[in-house]
Amino acid sequence: MSLLGLREFHRFEAAGQPFVYLVPSAAVFALDTVSDAVLGLLGAGDLPHDEVVTGLSERFDSHVVSESVAELLRVRAIGERGAGASPQARPKIIPLIPLATMVLNVTNKCNLACTYCYEYGEDKIVDTENGKKPKFMSEATAQESVDFMLRESGSSPRAHLTFFGGETLLNFPVLKTTVAYARRRAAEMGKDVDFSMTTNATLLKPEIIEFLVENQVGVTISIDGPKEMQDRFRVFHDGSGSYDTVMPKIRELLQKHRSRPIGARVTLTKQTLDIRRIYRHLTEEIGFTEVGFAPVTTAGGRDYAIGDTGFDHLLAQFNDLAQDFLQAALENRHHGFSNVKETIEEIHKGVSKAYPCGAGLGLMGVATDGDVNLCHRFAGSDEHKLGTVRDGIDRGAQRSFLEKHHLDDKPVCQTCWARPLCSGGCYHEAHTRYGTTTSANLHYCDWIRGWTETCLEVYGEIAVRNPRYLRIFEDAPMEKVS
Ligand code: SF4
Ligand code: SF4
Repeated sequence: MSLLGLREFHRFEAAGQPFVYLVPSAAVFALDTVSDAVLGLLGAGDLPHDEVVTGLSERFDSHVVSESVAELLRVRAIGERGAGASPQARPKIIPLIPLATMVLNVTNKCNLACTYCYEYGEDKIVDTENGKKPKFMSEATAQESVDFMLRESGSSPRAHLTFFGGETLLNFPVLKTTVAYARRRAAEMGKDVDFSMTTNATLLKPEIIEFLVENQVGVTISIDGPKEMQDRFRVFHDGSGSYDTVMPKIRELLQKHRSRPIGARVTLTKQTLDIRRIYRHLTEEIGFTEVGFAPVTTAGGRDYAIGDTGFDHLLAQFNDLAQDFLQAALENRHHGFSNVKETIEEIHKGVSKAYPCGAGLGLMGVATDGDVNLCHRFAGSDEHKLGTVRDGIDRGAQRSFLEKHHLDDKPVCQTCWARPLCSGGCYHEAHTRYGTTTSANLHYCDWIRGWTETCLEVYGEIAVRNPRYLRIFEDAPMEKVS
């Protein structure tokens, strides 16, 4: 006789109602009282169908319980034991998808000296300062990179080109000619290119802003918040803070560049964890429409590394801000806390990742000499090279990378309910923490699970109380450069 048993899911509550987040399919399923009772009963141990019905006969009609069991079987919240292979077994598929986003490191030089910088700071992978890579990408290499991107984007009608650094605007002349070249080449191929860039804002000036506006280049500004937080780590080479330099320039950009939301990207450290204050400053006082936060990537012992207490504090503050986001979503108002928006978009789209991000897959970084690497954070690292813009992607190297980094090869993640969204976390973070990209980021599991739980609750609440809001995700592309 086959027994009914629970499959893998995470139960949570939202809008006064129980839900399950099904793993690994990543579907969210609202439970009615009967299905919740069935799951509760099976939580104590596997049972035959008849005993499930009799076990709940005092509370529900037998046919209602049977219908509920059938539905739970259909969505795979429960399964029949002994009926074939393990429910978790799935083939390991190595995807080779076209390139969707190319991040072009137009320079590896920077006019700031942020203490925690992953390119110049204590945990750098490549010796950018003394290495053999050119400091600036040449116009010729940038154009070869564009050709590479268009070639590798296959039949996709659209490619995304992100300019990155060092400080990107130190090589504005190449950025400018590359935009024109990419537009022309894409048009010849019947394609379209979407442009974006990341900058520390120190070099923004009217003619650059005018160019960004005219060419609809999306802009993300790396900034850490109010003056004392910005000036704590984001300093010039002489140690002076950058807040007073960047603020007037950012205000001018925000005032003139209205066609696309300008995002702020905040690095959080042990010393700068007042998220509410940072958010309020950047949105209400400065005028950013989107603010994304990322804990600093660092080896464990650094002075600015966030410890366990810091992560608890971070989670409490994120939860707090997520409630504001929820309130805004229920009232169809915009709220710029992009971390929650990105995660509920993934939940809504049922994203279940075999890899934590697109690095080495649909996203690649190009170093100043045209070497192609996993992503922009590995640009210039021979150890993480996947080809060159001239010779194309080394498919053997790419396949070998994807073989070694599949979620199935992270044993510790196999029983974690958050794995469809986390999938072990950022390779760069893992490399910095553990010396290898193959490691799961076990130092922040509690934080990841806590945050995913919050986002599930926000999602469930919106799904019940204002489902129309979720339509904003229906055609939106999902793409982010961290
Ligand atoms: S790294 Fe941690 S949180 Fe992420 S999937 Fe693995 S076990 Fe879960
Ligand atoms: S998550 Fe990490 S590895 Fe992935 S693209 Fe971002 S920085 Fe690179």
